[in-house]
Amino acid sequence: MDCIFCKIAEGKSPANFVLNDGDVFAVRDAHPMAPIHILIIPQKHIASLTDLDGTDDRGLVGKMVSTAVEVAKKVSLSDRGFRLVWNCREEGGQTVDHIHLHLLGGRQMKWPPG
Ligand code: 5GP
Ligand code: ZN
Repeated sequence: MDCIFCKIAEGKSPANFVLNDGDVFAVRDAHPMAPIHILIIPQKHIASLTDLDGTDDRGLVGKMVSTAVEVAKKVSLSDRGFRLVWNCREEGGQTVDHIHLHLLGGRQMKWPPG
């Protein structure tokens, strides 16, 4: 399978790691949209949020969120604030078909998002 996030997970493609606990890892986004832009990615290949197994993957999604908060603390964003974003499929703006949670911070976020 030609998946860039699986390649990073397997160490076959380079990435700037912030954290790796085995099930979930965090890397700096290659094309940052904010001063701090980190992706929280599960080791397991799941193409999109709509491909999650409601029962088996529930813990994994919870772990992704708690990892994002842990990373936010690590990069000193917990007091300033930050944004977590999930893009799902075409109209959601998803470009890499392996689920990931964006952690964005270091500037004032706007609403509504584009
Ligand atoms: P999406 O658009 O699917 O929500 O987010 C995919 C993200 O992955 C984008 O922000 C994009 O910049 C990032 N990305 C794509 N390829 C790579 C890569 O090879 N390495 C890293 N670190 N990020 C990547
Ligand atoms: Zn993958």
